[in-house]
Amino acid sequence: MSKQFDVVVIGSGPAGYVAAIRCAQLGFNTACVEKWQSASNKPIYGGTCLNVGCIPSKALLDSSHKFYEMQRHFADHGIRAEQGSIDVAAMMERKNKVVGQLTLGVAGLFKSNKVTGISGTGTLLGRGRVRVTGPEGSQEELSASSVILASGSEPSAIPPTPVDNRLIVDSTGALEFDAVPERLGVIGAGVIGLELGSVWSRLGSQVTILEALDDFLPALDRQMAREALKILTRQGLEIKLGAKVTGSSTGEGKKKSVTVNYEDGDESGEAVFDKLIVAVGRRPVSGDLADSAAGLAIDKRGFVEVDEYCATNLPDVYAVGDLVRGPMLAHKGMEEGVMVAERLAGKKTQVNYDLVPSVIYTHPEIAWAGRNEDEMKQAGIECRTGSFSFAASGRALAANDTDGSVKLVVEKATDRIAGCQIIGASAADLLQQIVIAMEFSASAEDIALTMFSHPALSEVVHESALAVHGHAIHKANRKR
Ligand code: FAD
Ligand code: NAD
Repeated sequence: MSKQFDVVVIGSGPAGYVAAIRCAQLGFNTACVEKWQSASNKPIYGGTCLNVGCIPSKALLDSSHKFYEMQRHFADHGIRAEQGSIDVAAMMERKNKVVGQLTLGVAGLFKSNKVTGISGTGTLLGRGRVRVTGPEGSQEELSASSVILASGSEPSAIPPTPVDNRLIVDSTGALEFDAVPERLGVIGAGVIGLELGSVWSRLGSQVTILEALDDFLPALDRQMAREALKILTRQGLEIKLGAKVTGSSTGEGKKKSVTVNYEDGDESGEAVFDKLIVAVGRRPVSGDLADSAAGLAIDKRGFVEVDEYCATNLPDVYAVGDLVRGPMLAHKGMEEGVMVAERLAGKKTQVNYDLVPSVIYTHPEIAWAGRNEDEMKQAGIECRTGSFSFAASGRALAANDTDGSVKLVVEKATDRIAGCQIIGASAADLLQQIVIAMEFSASAEDIALTMFSHPALSEVVHESALAVHGHAIHKANRKR
């Protein structure tokens, strides 16, 4: 006899656990199957995000930022503390504590919402049928009216630099170093490369990032990308663009090291590191997710094929999060989880895929949403922009945190906000103000006519909206 549920979710990352909780809130008898286990065979919820992604990386970013500030900027405030040192083990322990608290928090939420957590690997057998293979190889079958697949993603690999989890690591290994590497190499100047490169650079590593593309952060407009590159380079990250990695070898001598070979235009280069992080993207975990007889449609890159409502080709089977098309971001998966749950309950919920905010949590943070100026030009839509620099913000100056700027992009014909890019302190939170405004189809004038607290960093957003029409108060406006 199979256990019967209304909804079975496979995977408890942010897409899966949010889907499960929302389903339970809506009255569905819901189970969530998770294969990540503790030593005592208990399921560990939260997926990549809580265990080896968003949360531990931000814990280390925050710890390392405090150290960097102490060494570089406390003296500006008259605080003499440059002699401080790093206790990597204590830093990791704090990070692990934060992770533990949050993963247990999901277990608590499952309990209070009456979601049944099941430890094991879930396999879709067909419509409404899931097999769970337990830690000891035991098997049981679950049946459900609906199945939500949320098995997430894992780090991509490249043949020239095979991860050995000693000298060459992926993002998970880079969150676990037991000492600060003297020379750290990173392959990929994407989100992970910049965030984890920053962590170890702030703690003292000499960091070199090798990026295959000639363009830095292609999602930003070129002007903002140049500004970000300048700031990060000044902080000590050496970022080599157009560097195609061709091979690597590891030395086992007294001082273990990894040598990376790369091609930079017509020239060949070689660099030697104590550790190498491979951060070249992530791929969906779909290999063993479904029995071949189930007939689940999976594309060439391993993504489960879905429509705009996350319905797969199989009736009553849905897929959400990193497993499906779109940006691999926790909040995108969470919104999809909520959408699927609510549509199962007969609501008409949709995800606005045109408005997915992105943030790189370096310091300053780099955040963007909607279309940038270059994209508007390419689309042939006339636009205006309004920019404002953090250096002109009283609050940023008081905090000694003046790097970066805001660039607001609006449709010329309607004044409607089309996008925003922010490099600066708290850019993620500042950008969210614009994302909310965009959800309500606000214009630059709407923001300009809104009263902002003084002195607050958010005044940079206000001033950028004023600048769209040449009315910024705290800078000289461009002649229009
Ligand atoms: P996952 O979080 O990958 O969860 C999938 C879960 O399914 C896992 O727990 C896995 O064990 C389980 N599973 C897989 N197959 C099965 C199976 N057959 N049976 C049972 N269980 C299964 N995103 C952001 O938005 N902001 C950030 O700041 C951010 N920082 C990141 C930092 C790092 C270092 C990394 C690696 C990623 C980061 N991300 C960030 C990306 C974010 O972690 C992912 O987008 C998000 O976790 C995807 O959620 P998901 O639920 O789709 O999948
Ligand atoms: P990414 O796609 O952001 O960056 C990968 C980079 O590696 C790209 O710039 C790419 O051009 C480069 N690259 C690829 N192959 C290469 C090669 N052979 N040699 C040199 N460079 C190469 O991927 P990521 O940084 O690995 O992150 C994976 C995913 O996790 C992303 O989709 C991201 O959205 C998500 N994530 C998000 C956050 C956040 O939201 N703050 C943080 C970390 C990760």
